[in-house]
Amino acid sequence: MKIYVSGLYAGGNPQPGVGIVRSLRQGYPNATIVGVEYSNRVSGIHFGKLDELWIQRPWSELDLDAYGEKVREALDAGGLWISGSDLEAMWLASVFPDGHPNLLAPPMSGIKRITKPVVEAASGLPIKIPTYLSTEHSDWDLHAFCREHNWRVWLKGPYYDASRTPTWDTFTAVRNALSKVWSTEKLFLQAHVSGYEESVMLSAFRGELLGAVSMRKRDITTEGKTWAGDVSEVPASFMEPLRQMVRDTNWTGGGELEMVRDASDQLWLIEMNPRFPAWVHGATIAGHNLPALLVQAATRVAAQPVPAVASEFTRIVLEVPVRPDYPLPPLPEPFAGAVGHSMKHPSGLTSLAARLHEIDPHMLDVALAPDAAAPPSGVAELPDTFVADIAAQDFDAMQTPQYIYMDTTATSLFKRAADRAHSLSTNGVEVISGYSIKTNPDKRLIKLALDNGFYAEAISLGEVQSALEVGFRPDQVILNGPGKWWPEGLMPRETMHAVFCDSIADLDRVVAAVAAGDMSAKHIGVRIRTPNITSRFGIPLDSPTTFAKLIAAVKRLPNDSAFGVHFHMASSHVGVAQWWHLFESMLRWCQSIEKLSGRTIEMLDMGGGWYPDDWHEDQISKIARAAERVRTMLLGVRQIASEPGKAMAQPSMALAMRILEIQEHEDDYIEAVVDASIAEIPMHFWQPHRMVRQCAETGELQPIGRGKTHLMGRLCMEHDIIASNVQLPEGTRAGDLLIFCDAGGYDRSMSYVFGRG
Ligand SMILES: *Cc1c(COP(=O)(O)O)cnc(C)c1O
Repeated sequence: MKIYVSGLYAGGNPQPGVGIVRSLRQGYPNATIVGVEYSNRVSGIHFGKLDELWIQRPWSELDLDAYGEKVREALDAGGLWISGSDLEAMWLASVFPDGHPNLLAPPMSGIKRITKPVVEAASGLPIKIPTYLSTEHSDWDLHAFCREHNWRVWLKGPYYDASRTPTWDTFTAVRNALSKVWSTEKLFLQAHVSGYEESVMLSAFRGELLGAVSMRKRDITTEGKTWAGDVSEVPASFMEPLRQMVRDTNWTGGGELEMVRDASDQLWLIEMNPRFPAWVHGATIAGHNLPALLVQAATRVAAQPVPAVASEFTRIVLEVPVRPDYPLPPLPEPFAGAVGHSMKHPSGLTSLAARLHEIDPHMLDVALAPDAAAPPSGVAELPDTFVADIAAQDFDAMQTPQYIYMDTTATSLFKRAADRAHSLSTNGVEVISGYSIKTNPDKRLIKLALDNGFYAEAISLGEVQSALEVGFRPDQVILNGPGKWWPEGLMPRETMHAVFCDSIADLDRVVAAVAAGDMSAKHIGVRIRTPNITSRFGIPLDSPTTFAKLIAAVKRLPNDSAFGVHFHMASSHVGVAQWWHLFESMLRWCQSIEKLSGRTIEMLDMGGGWYPDDWHEDQISKIARAAERVRTMLLGVRQIASEPGKAMAQPSMALAMRILEIQEHEDDYIEAVVDASIAEIPMHFWQPHRMVRQCAETGELQPIGRGKTHLMGRLCMEHDIIASNVQLPEGTRAGDLLIFCDAGGYDRSMSYVFGRG
């Protein structure tokens, strides 16, 4: 009996080969076990229980046709083959589409049915698939997905590699790296599921389930890989549909379903692998030798039974002698620090991916739900008002780069917000908005705020002055933040609408100023610091001591002003779902503050931090529900305020720029230099911008989709790349006009003068 076993990589994220060999050795002490590898850098080739080695050239160099023939000869000669690598299993399935009696790996039809993220074959199992979105969607939609899922998301390729992408710039960098490494643009974002990880491993032969075992990870490596686990029987409720799945896919070989069990006991499928897992021998230790069952089914030679030694296993690191005929190779070239892959693939699996892509361009496609039939275009639609506002510009006379004011867009956004506030003001509770001047102090926006019944929300006396200059009265001003006394001498003497104290020191200063007649406000309150969210603002309340200080401070507030509470956590940053969760918790804190301080909260200010779409497209539902929650939990509240900044300002301006030069490189990679730079679009690290080109001939606006072009800023700075992976429309030339929308928030206000001579 001769058994070929591949996938001998034995680093921190190991392949299963060594474990398979150990298990086979127990079941078949006299079999000849041949280790198959594609690199002499893989330490598993030195494992002492291998009888022979079959070392091939790396995948990048192998003649696949000739190698396929050699594998066929080995199988024809009676050798069995157990693959320990997903991509090798796929390649074998492409060489033997109908299988081979001695190839103990799944058929191509089966492999295609376990593709991520839908894993269609597993649909009969009692598991759910975490929400996902194909990266073929526009950046605009991908950003929305990340916000919706609190930035707890994974970017994944069809095989291997998954990266948490907690910020937009990580997302774009990882997307770039993964597409390059795995030769595909088709990746997907998937929501993270919190819980404990567990797996089911199976062994099957020609559609018959030979055995399965359950394993819970009990200790993991920093990469999240199993370091220790406990092994148990698969419950019948899982076993029966699993048996059916094996039958339906005509599965042969090993397999693993990787899952997460959440707090409500629901299982979520992370992925299914077409091979045994690396912890395979852990199950053998527990008396379930699944590789031996597979060989037994294929050969009808009974395996030696192995007794269960323990139901738990752990790993240790062992030094083994290096085989004299395979001395250690020279040290690798210094690793350049790319994202997403490393010495993890010494055998050139990434180039195998590229070659599989050539064999069948769709072999490595991600599998999306069938109702996602109409493929997304990757381009975000421009709202009609954007198109109208851009059309109204006279670009011929315009020096670029230049911000353009989107008049009808801004007007309609303020009007909509005003209408919503009005319609939500019922039952004696008024809903108001304060425009955050800091976000964009453009006078046109402050004026729109005034005309639409907004209050002016200021974080400095300079901003208060701007509001007064535009026509706000002091009693329409909300003053916030740690720098509210700057610049000195500008504090209005008239009564303001509200003042929120950012710290105990700030509160004591406010109390003193009010007592001295230097300051007055209808509402005086505190900003509270959200527990469990890192913030430098507000008064903390997360320990009994800090909470006691807060209560004592609230008791010092003047009694002739109404009391208010302000909290602010950016939903654009913490995520929309998380925001609502925190909102509920805040209301409870507010109830405690009322009870302990004896002061009734009359004004509740929810701060700003909303992404425009989350604020405007929500229409009435969530804000209405929030108002309803406030009404029931804080009976004294007469006014609910929010302080939208970027929700109002971001869509209100765009940045026009011209292309200076187009440089074409290898593999369709293009660098287009523009006259704008990160000095004018500093938020490009944090948010996508909807981009268009104005056709030089027709004036038509053409969307810029995704592709292999990078837009380089004019600055002589390495990181001045204002857009990556875009596609300029056909015929784009130097001199053409590009417009970055969504630049009216912090792009505008935080832009800086740099590199202009
Ligand atoms: C900055 C700021 C806002 C507005 O934040 P956006 O993210 O622009 O919506 C609101 N309130 C306060 C106190 C702020 O400092």
